[in-house]
Amino acid sequence: MTPEVPGATDLGVEAIRLQRATLAYRAPITTAYGTLDRREVVLLTVVDEDGRTGRGEAAPLAGFTPETVDEAEAALQRWADEGTDPSAYPTARAAIDSALLDLASARAGRPVHDLLSPGSPAELPVAALVAGPTVDDLADAARRAVADGHPGVKVKVGVGPFEADLERVAAVRAAIDGAGLRLDANGAWCVSEAIDRLGRLAAFHPEFVEEPTAGLDDNAAVRAASPVPVAVDESAPDLPSIERALAVRAADVLIVKPSALGGPRPTAEAARRATDAGLRVVVTSLLEGSVGIRATAHLASALGLLQPAPGLATAGLLATDVGEPLMAVGGALYLD
Ligand SMILES: [Mg+2]
Repeated sequence: MTPEVPGATDLGVEAIRLQRATLAYRAPITTAYGTLDRREVVLLTVVDEDGRTGRGEAAPLAGFTPETVDEAEAALQRWADEGTDPSAYPTARAAIDSALLDLASARAGRPVHDLLSPGSPAELPVAALVAGPTVDDLADAARRAVADGHPGVKVKVGVGPFEADLERVAAVRAAIDGAGLRLDANGAWCVSEAIDRLGRLAAFHPEFVEEPTAGLDDNAAVRAASPVPVAVDESAPDLPSIERALAVRAADVLIVKPSALGGPRPTAEAARRATDAGLRVVVTSLLEGSVGIRATAHLASALGLLQPAPGLATAGLLATDVGEPLMAVGGALYLD
């Protein structure tokens, strides 16, 4: 399915507003590229002749998107002033197409997911990201997430000594019985370490491990010898690198972040290519605000990318959000 995004003129857009907002996280978030405690995003609002609005969010993140927040804002401003194509700035592209779809949804009186794909589900079970300072805290968080209804949990590995990872993963597996368990090493290991360590982690039946090593060629080498399915995420942040990931057989699973990839159209294209090549596709957030998470959730529903469960239960990480927080209830997001 290729999402049809109506143009601003077709929707009778009469005003376009840009606004900076600051997202603050409840606790610092560690990514492969550093620690994040707050970040700026740009909110885009398009308004039609009857005052109906559509919103989008541009949320650049170092390591995942090529542009800075200043560059994304400038690209949005040029689009607003002159209609300049923002495609070189994927977060701006995502914000514009999401805002236009949101406005189209308001005009049609139908949710975005249903507009894109009639009959697509309003309920999305989502995986939970769990963390904790001690093994017991981590296992408790995982147990609570699964008891709440999440179909599975994700655990970060590769931060401390490997023996600690083994202990943490074993405790989580014991706490959640047969629920889904996915791991993310964010490229922490070299190829031989990754192969050895995944051989030991396989006993806990992870669904997959994201980025066991860094780079597509090295992930391909790990995948060829790993008993645990390999996922690529930050190694394949755009369509050309996704094509390359498929060509070198770097992964069994593709993680897509629509906010980083450029929104509905490139996401649909990436998902189609990956699925055709036999990969599973997991839609995740970019730890952005709820305007962006909501757009991504509607898209995941419309594209049928619900299994493995999307990683979209991230609004709870935010102390300050944009728009109404899209929180998981009973392990699922509900769209309207
Ligand atoms: Mg990841």
